[in-house]
Amino acid sequence: MITEKPVCVTGASGFIASHIVSQLLAEGYRVRGTVRKSAEHYPYLLQLPGAPGRLELVQADLLGRDSFLPAFRECDFVIHTASPYVINVRDPENDLVKPALEGTAAVMEAAGKTADLRRIVLTSSVAAVTDEPDSTKVFTELDWNTRSSLRRHPYHYSKTLAERAAWEYIERNKPHFDLVSINPAMVTGPSIVPAINTTNAMIRDIMTGVYPGILDINWGFVDVRDTARAHILAMESDSARGRYLCSAELLHMRDLVELLSLPEYGSFPLPKRDLTGPFGTGLMKALSWTLPRDTGTYIRTHIGRTIRYGCGKIKQDLGISFRPVRESILEAVEDMVSKGHLAPPKKR
Ligand code: NAP
Repeated sequence: MITEKPVCVTGASGFIASHIVSQLLAEGYRVRGTVRKSAEHYPYLLQLPGAPGRLELVQADLLGRDSFLPAFRECDFVIHTASPYVINVRDPENDLVKPALEGTAAVMEAAGKTADLRRIVLTSSVAAVTDEPDSTKVFTELDWNTRSSLRRHPYHYSKTLAERAAWEYIERNKPHFDLVSINPAMVTGPSIVPAINTTNAMIRDIMTGVYPGILDINWGFVDVRDTARAHILAMESDSARGRYLCSAELLHMRDLVELLSLPEYGSFPLPKRDLTGPFGTGLMKALSWTLPRDTGTYIRTHIGRTIRYGCGKIKQDLGISFRPVRESILEAVEDMVSKGHLAPPKKR
């Protein structure tokens, strides 16, 4: 479904968005990406195959109320990914909630004034689904995070408020366009962007001895290229509806350490001490109070619990299949080494 009109991708400089831009260009779309600085700051976007002549970068800020209206001009589709993804912030209100919420409100208002618009695909998160695993439950699109606040998981709070605001806009205004959200789990894989992403930085932390041992904690992972693909399929599919959880596979920290210990990948200073039992979990809960506030909260709400996401809807409606996340993680590691974010492994 290639249209002559540009597809607008907000936050084009981001880890996920740059893969969306790359795939849209590869499919022959015209793309208008919103960025915060002038275009010459983004050579890695301007040099993507297909970019010359088909990629336009325009400036917009989530806190600039009217900045999205010119960016959406003539667009049939907007993919709204821009939102701060940071875990430990000094000022949760101003650093996370305001840009996420006011930015989404500004995007919805600008969309309402864009006559041609047919659909917004919103990058939400599993953070808007829950901020606390429940080992007895499989989370689905019906679940909403009701517990986060400015003090408890402010990143999760920002994503929940932003996604809710988008759906409430649709409910209240019954506009001429519809909304589909993609709610990814931990997104990993190689980066087009030179900076390191928060999720890949978490993998790097495991590999550089930030954690005192192997903790009883697990995560849903999904490849960044599959996540980008899910956004484009959600845009292209007439029958796409509502929210889509997007997680390929669950990995325990033990699985990650095992994977990264494979001899062919050399030797990283991975955690060795097994803290996955009740003693380790209790110890880590006590130690969590000495960690940066939001990391500490994360440990206390996640350790010793299993998270599970039901991702049947995305596979059935969008026909997506996910690549094995172990391969994505290994590619992310190689990419971090090549970009200088991670010291090369010692040879064994
Ligand atoms: P990222 O690389 O940090 O990208 C965030 C994007 O948002 C960047 O383009 C950033 O622009 C932009 N942004 C931040 N504050 C802004 C502001 N005030 N005005 C305009 N743009 C602003 O993170 P990502 O991983 O790609 O995340 C993209 C989206 O996916 C976010 O909505 C995030 O919540 C969601 N998500 C990510 C993951 C994951 O594991 N990565 C998982 C689930 C959901 P600059 O480049 O100028 O900073």
